[in-house]
Amino acid sequence: MAEQPTVVVVGANLAGGRAAETLRVAGFDGRLVLVGAEPDRPYERPPLSKEFLRGEMPDGKIYLQPLKYYAANRIELWLGTRATRLRPAEPVVELSDGRVLRFDGLLIATGATPRRLAVPGADLPGIAYLRTVRDAKRLRTVLRRRPRVVVVGAGFIGAEVAASARVLGCEVTIIEMLPVPLGRVLGEEVGRAYAALHTAHGVDLRTGETVAAFRGARRVEEVVTASGTALPCDVAVVGVGVVPEVGWLDGSGVAVGNGVLVDELCATSRPGVYAAGDVANWPHPLFGERLRVEHFDNAQEQGVAAAWRMLGERAPYAPVPYFWSDQYDATLQHVGHASPDDEVVFRGQPGGDAWAAFYLREGRLRAALGLNRPREVFGARRLIAAQVHPTREQLRDEQVDLRRLALRS
Ligand SMILES: Cc1cc2nc3c(=O)[nH]c(=O)nc-3n(C[C@H](O)[C@H](O)[C@H](O)COP(=O)(O)OP(=O)(O)OC[C@H]3O[C@@H](n4cnc5c(N)ncnc54)[C@H](O)[C@@H]3O)c2cc1C
Repeated sequence: MAEQPTVVVVGANLAGGRAAETLRVAGFDGRLVLVGAEPDRPYERPPLSKEFLRGEMPDGKIYLQPLKYYAANRIELWLGTRATRLRPAEPVVELSDGRVLRFDGLLIATGATPRRLAVPGADLPGIAYLRTVRDAKRLRTVLRRRPRVVVVGAGFIGAEVAASARVLGCEVTIIEMLPVPLGRVLGEEVGRAYAALHTAHGVDLRTGETVAAFRGARRVEEVVTASGTALPCDVAVVGVGVVPEVGWLDGSGVAVGNGVLVDELCATSRPGVYAAGDVANWPHPLFGERLRVEHFDNAQEQGVAAAWRMLGERAPYAPVPYFWSDQYDATLQHVGHASPDDEVVFRGQPGGDAWAAFYLREGRLRAALGLNRPREVFGARRLIAAQVHPTREQLRDEQVDLRRLALRS
């Protein structure tokens, strides 16, 4: 990079925020601009479906940094501003307010946005999506009145909202398209245990059902399923996945395909342009396939990694992905990359209070999921990183400490 170059980071949340911090920590001394469509400075989304939604957390605690941090570190915050186009032949980003930004380095950290349901009545008031702090504040106000809640989708966001709403004393129904929630990703037995957690807490879980329509006079009053059941509600929360935010890159010369395609160094097909976080799709050397991870740890670490690589670091980005989900008093943790056809080996009884599932392909450990089993999950993470493959007996055996096994290797 030339002297006093400009780095523009588009997307001012977790990946973008951590990247900007890292550029300064790593000694980048040029101009640094963080452009974000939301009016808020970078913050953490995980509490939005958990303690923040339940009103157990002060609003000010979600931010990555105090406002003064950005001024002190000469990070220009251009908030409430959307990048609308990346010019194909010039290093220039066009913005929603008509301004343009010329860059020497560009980081794309535009994340993902909730997939919208396109069924009759989908625009009725009272149908909520949860991604931003503003979404969470609105929903928090509604949940305080203890409404009847229908959650569409039993993925992690839907399940966490359902759990929070139950804790607040709401009546909750979940509609899930699959016969077993998460069955396609984590296997049927794990999916059944996950379902049991919700039914045990009083959730009415309807599987194998989809939404045909929302109905109501002035706001949503019922959700009608494809099988013809009408479920009365005061609020419907839709959590049916997210789509990567890449529309603004059309015609820019940056290759996309389920997100922005990058290499192991977070670099896109266009020189000087990098991507990180939920939007980035990269070839993972350990798993031998491309991954696009939609979880906190990756967004944070890949943001940091991309910043270092923009400054010349050459090590491939190859973490063992990790995520967690808190529902009721259970903590689910997952490491690695599971596939639906993996063999699953259990430690403990799935459906009980604490168990772990290990995912193997051709006898090789690829992923682990634990319910209240952090030792096993982090042990498995070390084993996967070190490419040590314990036997099925060792995985099942309560006496075997997986962390030690990794250390011994
Ligand atoms: C409610 C909720 C709970 C979660 N809980 C967990 C959890 O328990 N565990 C876990 O591991 N993960 C969790 N996640 C996922 C985690 O928060 C995300 O993986 C993480 O926020 C991704 O960070 P990111 O910076 O890549 O993308 P984002 O957080 O999506 O940030 C991207 C930013 O870019 C902005 N943007 C988009 N397009 C443009 C544009 N054209 N111009 C300018 N700005 C733009 C967006 O407005 C957004 O602010 C949760 C997510 C949600 C929504």
